[in-house]
Amino acid sequence: MSTQGQNPRFSAIQTVISRRPKTVTAPTDERGNTLKISDFYGVNTFSLKQMKQKLPNDIYKRLIQTTQTGKKLDQDVATAVAHAVKEWALENGVTHYCHWFQPQTGATAEKHDAFMTIDGSGQPIERFSGAQLIQSEPDASSFPSGGMRTTFEARGYTAWDPTSPIFISESGSIKTLCIPSVFISYHGDALDEKTGVLRSNEALSERAVKLLHIIGDTDVKAVTTSLGPEQEYFLIDRSLYALRPDLIMSGRTLVGARPPRGQQLEDHYFGSIPARVLAFMTEVEQELFKLGVPAKTRHNEVAPMQFELAPIYEEANVAIDHNHVTMETMRQVAKKHDFEVLFHEKPFAGVNGSGKHNNWSMSVSQGGAEIEGMNLLDPGKTPHQNLRFLLFLSATLKGVNKHAGLLRAAIASSGNDHRLGANEAPPAIISVFLGNMLDNMLNEIEKDAHKNLNYTEAVIALGVSKLPTIMKDNTDRNRTSPFAFTGNKFEFRAVGASASCALPITFLNAAVADGIQEVTALLEASLKTTKVKEEAIFAVVKDVIKESKQVRFEGNGYSGEWVSEADKRSLPHLKTTPDALHQIVSEKSIKLLTGLGVFSENEIKSRFHVRIEIYNKKVLIEAETMKSIVETIVLPAAYQYMGTLASGIAASKEAGVAAPSESLIALNKTLATAQTELTKLGRTIEQVYAIEDEEKRAAKIAVDLKGAMESLREQADTLEGQVADHFWPLPKYREMLFLS
Ligand code: ADP
Ligand code: MG
Repeated sequence: MSTQGQNPRFSAIQTVISRRPKTVTAPTDERGNTLKISDFYGVNTFSLKQMKQKLPNDIYKRLIQTTQTGKKLDQDVATAVAHAVKEWALENGVTHYCHWFQPQTGATAEKHDAFMTIDGSGQPIERFSGAQLIQSEPDASSFPSGGMRTTFEARGYTAWDPTSPIFISESGSIKTLCIPSVFISYHGDALDEKTGVLRSNEALSERAVKLLHIIGDTDVKAVTTSLGPEQEYFLIDRSLYALRPDLIMSGRTLVGARPPRGQQLEDHYFGSIPARVLAFMTEVEQELFKLGVPAKTRHNEVAPMQFELAPIYEEANVAIDHNHVTMETMRQVAKKHDFEVLFHEKPFAGVNGSGKHNNWSMSVSQGGAEIEGMNLLDPGKTPHQNLRFLLFLSATLKGVNKHAGLLRAAIASSGNDHRLGANEAPPAIISVFLGNMLDNMLNEIEKDAHKNLNYTEAVIALGVSKLPTIMKDNTDRNRTSPFAFTGNKFEFRAVGASASCALPITFLNAAVADGIQEVTALLEASLKTTKVKEEAIFAVVKDVIKESKQVRFEGNGYSGEWVSEADKRSLPHLKTTPDALHQIVSEKSIKLLTGLGVFSENEIKSRFHVRIEIYNKKVLIEAETMKSIVETIVLPAAYQYMGTLASGIAASKEAGVAAPSESLIALNKTLATAQTELTKLGRTIEQVYAIEDEEKRAAKIAVDLKGAMESLREQADTLEGQVADHFWPLPKYREMLFLS
């Protein structure tokens, strides 16, 4: 029989409450003086700055040219860079290198090779060639390809992406040189997540440059997309984590009754950071700074033990790599602080979920001093700049409206299904929030409020020239919108916390590239009839605003009214991952992605299949874990307590006082229902496995399996409330969320 002493939960609690914050020491120089962040920022990266120092001038210039034009690296440049990288790595105590890439698993992959090799005379020597820098062949047959490689050859190769800095990853005292790479099949198919980002960026750049040239910004040579991903996460003490098979196997609690106190007091949000957590955050930041990851903001989030880390934005491709590095660093550092970090979108039912808000914009990356770095979604000082802003804003609205289904698919995952439409979460409907002031201005433009006015008068009447000043004061935010404009960028808030930003950014870039292309066509047509360029632009903006109006929503996105309103507007409302994923392979999406050269039809289908399979596997793992938890932990605890209860009641009868039997009867009733639901879950799991077709399997999972899991959870959570506390071996919500 379980007693307090034997219940593992109680010793875990003892461990948690006796923990103290770990000491974190800042990096020091040789004399032991603490270094400023700027002194050690990027020491573990081989950045362009270092390359400039270490490479011959002309080699450096040619390298930069290749990174800017995306052309293949010349042999002699590769050799020189490889040599410099090797020297730098060896100086830093690195022994191995790897091509670091992003297969379609959502995580990163690496295969280490030693620099050491044996030369012709049998002597060991450190070697690293240009060819090894540029290309590598991992044994790739076990990475998901969504059937792409079964029809081709099983092999793929990784190729260096020189636009993302090479870095040294440290694990304890072991250091590995990581070379950010793409991963492609020998037929050129993208087997990874990064290739799509690079291609979509290219597609957007080409179209944005063309539009900018037409409106008179003829110096612009390239446009890039920027990304600042805000990372939300939960921390949980490792000793409690270790007692939760569900967290270990699936990252979320599959059973667990909600505590009477959750986040309703809202006393955690932006509150003072607990000392143990602050130590963790500080060490994470130190590691990130060494890796040249610009971590900027840290704070408590809404739910207890929920936090956020936000970086300064970077070029999207680099920011995506850096977000992977950030998550990995957090995982490692958390263990040192006796925490486990949870990136799952909904680790605790009934408590706020975690997102990864993708702050996104477009800016000029090449085009001369005047315009370089200019953010195209930032209203400027002159009417021309503001007109340009309105044009790119309209193009974004157009793209997002037209491809809302695809954007919904980009964020679909089994984890995010619990967050979309749940407590404090964007619903599974893609809409755009602009803020009161901008929304009003667009409405005015649409209503022809400036009719009979010429362009200059209209600019004054509508306040276009005052845009930036007005917008600065316009601080209203909409936390309920999945895609919100926040002054000079959009925030794609619907992305899940555990997700890679790669596919969301790829699809967003593609959607907006399409918007820009269509806006450009409209403008070209308008310029044929309207002599004054500004008036032609205005006319296009007006048409696009009207056409894309349905995707704009300023109200409360969590309200029931919005769901019915969105339905009236025929906006896609795709509640489950399988439903959403089908948008990837819709005729419209295939046309978009192939048309822009982002993905071939084969690659698109592969993305769809890989994601369906991952969904199926993840939910099945959850279902089996849940079944086993209920069978081996929840029910045994309940039976054990029932035994105690029954003998207590029997003994009381014998003693002549007959204790009330209500608890026993109630417990027995729940147990019976729980058993029935458990059997049902087991049967449903078998039925799911019997379906071989992955799409059909997904459909069954989304409805029947999820339904069976919910019903069983309800019973398990009722039992948690009925069984005596010291019989319950699973750490409870109150302990996981409030003790550390
Ligand atoms: P907020 O006022 O919304 O908190 P911040 O300026 O703090 O805005 O930005 C939030 C996130 O958005 C940060 O990660 C920031 O770097 C990023 N961000 C800011 N400007 C841009 C931009 N032009 N493109 C992409 N991300 C951006
Ligand atoms: Mg946030």
